[in-house]
Amino acid sequence: MTDGGSGFRCLDCDERFEFGTATHRCPDCRGILDPTYDEETLAAFHDRLFGGRGAGDGIPDGDGGRTDAGLGRFAPVLPFDREQLVTLDEGGTSLLECHDVGDEADVDVFLKDEGRNGTGGIQDREMALAVTAARVHGASDVALPTTGNGGQAAAAYAGRAGLASHSFVPSRTTFATKAMINVHGGDMNVVGGRYPDAREAFEEVIDDEAWHSLAPFETPYRHEACKTLAYELVASLGAPPDAVVHPTGHGHGLVGLDKGFRELARTGAIDRRPRLYAAQPAGCAPLVAAWKNGEDTPQPVDHPDTICGALEIPAPAGGSLALDVLDATRESRRARRAAWASAAGTNSPNGGSSTPARPWSSSTRRRPTAKPTCSGAT
Ligand SMILES: [Zn+2]
Repeated sequence: MTDGGSGFRCLDCDERFEFGTATHRCPDCRGILDPTYDEETLAAFHDRLFGGRGAGDGIPDGDGGRTDAGLGRFAPVLPFDREQLVTLDEGGTSLLECHDVGDEADVDVFLKDEGRNGTGGIQDREMALAVTAARVHGASDVALPTTGNGGQAAAAYAGRAGLASHSFVPSRTTFATKAMINVHGGDMNVVGGRYPDAREAFEEVIDDEAWHSLAPFETPYRHEACKTLAYELVASLGAPPDAVVHPTGHGHGLVGLDKGFRELARTGAIDRRPRLYAAQPAGCAPLVAAWKNGEDTPQPVDHPDTICGALEIPAPAGGSLALDVLDATRESRRARRAAWASAAGTNSPNGGSSTPARPWSSSTRRRPTAKPTCSGAT
């Protein structure tokens, strides 16, 4: 484990645990665990990252120079030493300015091209840390339910680490994605139906197998790895963007981005945190619906149907956490509830006899004004 890591904090009950004493959910309450770090470690790394001259001093090098591969550049603020890290040189992806879209919207738009990771997605960052943890904890096999991309990444990183991998994918996952799981040497279980069916099949066997789960928000490391997106955005832009729009499935990317920006703000490396937006396909948008309705927990989508298969997650594992993140950087659920109640003439968002005007109608929806940045899906 890295020297600067101080352990885990349970995001539900606030209990603290040492890194070696917990591998997945909170031992006390089954809440989501979040890695924590010494303040001095964060400050020292941020100072080194930005040369003590504020944000914008280029791509981070960690403290070992440009020989560090992948997430090893961020090792001082990750739970594992660079020597422990299972890496395929993930991260450090391009930030492309999208001139036409920017001109149309009259803002500067950049695309963080996570497709440049080895298996083509942000899940490479996630699996670098999550598979490292599996190896550190002595696992021989890793397993997860996935819409596909996570299975590719898990197979590739498990292969790199010398571990076996088992992916449970819905039958509607694309042929190319299924093929790549096998190309990387992964065991694949194709389950008839959609993601919830794959998740159910996974849950039926995981307790009986000596497999290390990489399921979404079961391992504390997938969202943790995504915080490196925030570090890279600030390093590339020279300042935090005004807003980040993130294609969102379970919520790892959104939660990780928020954590990264929080760490940078705590030490003064940045002076403000961006607004965060979750983008979801119209045929499966539980977070967007919950956000609009002012709900604390997303309601599962009964009949998901979208061509964005990777984002067809009807019940996000990090749903409540992702909503908290959206609240923290934008208007709160309390404010939206109040707007609803005011429009309905009642104190309850579910009360009233008439249908209220939706407070999130297009005329009142807040929009980013400058420098939105899109980042890869999770
Ligand atoms: Zn707990």
